[in-house]
Amino acid sequence: MDLRVRALETVLSRKGYIDPAALDTLIDTYQTRIGPRNGARVVAKAWVDPAFKAWLLKDGTAAIASLGYSGRQGEHMVVLENTEAVHHLVVCTLCSCYPWPVLGLPPTWYKSAPYRSRAVREPRSVLAEFGLHLPDSTEVRVWDSTAEVRYLVLPRRPAGSEGLGEEALAALVTRDSMIGVGEARAPSAEGQGPLSAQASAASAPASAAPSSTSSR
Ligand code: FE
Repeated sequence: MDLRVRALETVLSRKGYIDPAALDTLIDTYQTRIGPRNGARVVAKAWVDPAFKAWLLKDGTAAIASLGYSGRQGEHMVVLENTEAVHHLVVCTLCSCYPWPVLGLPPTWYKSAPYRSRAVREPRSVLAEFGLHLPDSTEVRVWDSTAEVRYLVLPRRPAGSEGLGEEALAALVTRDSMIGVGEARAPSAEGQGPLSAQASAASAPASAAPSSTSSR
């Protein structure tokens, strides 16, 4: 499938029907700008507004829709709150179900077979590869997305963010933190780029690529 899409893209761009750069911009927009930013605003609002947070955890679909984020792949949203005691991690073991209205398009690793299987079998190892090391006292719960239900993780509000407004808070919320493979950024780390999508893409975790350890 992937090969066919790429072949088609190549043919169309050679013939001048599509501009690969424009295509990249379009995908990048959904992947790293529009999508995750919506989710980040939801999270930031929940951090500052206890009533909204309560609503969000009780009826995620309605609370999220109240901010204008609804539609395909977001019809049945369930929001999972990360705490010191429990850490939630989202996967789609079957394919790549993902909450588009709040997170945009899924990253490549989310759709990869290694992530889909390993997130369930050995979530702590997967989290460690993302750079997230949780204490043993924190329970890890893995949620399998379906065609029916899509999950959004409500990450913990970072320490030192007490004085920040909603907009500044939203800037701390990464895509990965809303899937549960990361945490929200600390305020001091702000300004490292939009939603750290590049950073997490580069770390390519679940590929579990033995190639990275087999060199020399
Ligand atoms: Fe799926």
